Amino acid sequence: KLFNEVQELKGNIRVYCRIRPFLPGQKEKQSIVEHIGESDMVVANPSKQGKEALRTFKFNKIFGPLSTQAEVYADIQAFIRSVLDGYNVCIFAYGQTGSGKTYTMSGPNGASNESVGVNYRALNDLFNISSSRQSTIVYEIGVQVIEIYNEQVRDLLSTDSSVKKTLGILNNSQPNGLAVPDASMLPVKSTADVIKLMDIGLKNRAKGSTAMNERSSRSHSVVSIHVRGADKKSGSSLQGNLHLVDLAGSERIDRSEVTGDRLKEAQHINKSLSALGDVIFALAQKSAHIPYRNSKLTQLLQSSLGGHAKTLMLVQINSDIKSYSESVSTLKFAERVS
Ligand code: ADP
Ligand code: MG
Repeated sequence: KLFNEVQELKGNIRVYCRIRPFLPGQKEKQSIVEHIGESDMVVANPSKQGKEALRTFKFNKIFGPLSTQAEVYADIQAFIRSVLDGYNVCIFAYGQTGSGKTYTMSGPNGASNESVGVNYRALNDLFNISSSRQSTIVYEIGVQVIEIYNEQVRDLLSTDSSVKKTLGILNNSQPNGLAVPDASMLPVKSTADVIKLMDIGLKNRAKGSTAMNERSSRSHSVVSIHVRGADKKSGSSLQGNLHLVDLAGSERIDRSEVTGDRLKEAQHINKSLSALGDVIFALAQKSAHIPYRNSKLTQLLQSSLGGHAKTLMLVQINSDIKSYSESVSTLKFAERVS
């Protein structure tokens, strides 16, 4: 109900902000966040005084540092459920490296039941709801996990060496709804399947240890969940897609300090994040031209951005004063699309 109200007010785009807590052992514990409301927050510029230092940002929802994974998911669940009714949904985590994107989407390493992230909860919900409807609708749920690195698309669920192979994106919505038909698709039917899938994802992320960890912050990871439902009586069918995206770190790179591969990576990230911002901004403005073609990310998600699709941007910030300028640039990006 709430979701439909918001949809009427704001089109199909919602923006939530989550403020990462200070971590145990973290030295810098001075926060730039002066006030956290339900849907507004006040940030203080540490180099200014008094009222002049303060700036208010408004989003659909703010999650403070004490928010739990379950609380965050509770406000996402309506999006997930609508996939089973045949909607396409995109959920993005945006923010600088270290701001909690992966924590929100996947959970910490070795997550407990309480700390698992949106990916796991979403999949679990999808098959729980689908099995509760099994007397009327038969659902099939399949999952792809894809990485976009330097504008190249790779299959992260592949068990053979073709992980390194670059995959092509099909333009616009194909009859089967798959933008990357050559990426492995794993069926999920139970919690056990979900756990298995998450393990494969974790292993692929862990490959190459430190180098891979670093790389994971410089690539976009896309978990795509494809749902097909067939009505037992009428035989009519529906199709919904859910894309859960852990974006590359949004931090600006000092061009005078990086060269070669690092500069190329930074340029690719910059290009794709601004392309994503431009697409969502154009959708929010109900613009006639939506610039999908400017990055692999927006091409991949084209059929799930705009039209009847629903989009949620999860904006992550690290509130310590050293991250002030990155946090403000993250909040401005989010303000533009909300
Ligand atoms: P990102 O993916 O944006 O680079 P991470 O998700 O890896 O950031 O988070 C950085 C660190 O902060 C990790 O150690 C993570 O476990 C921790 N962290 C992030 N968000 C939270 C949170 N809400 N509660 C507790 N720890 C968090
Ligand atoms: Mg991460």
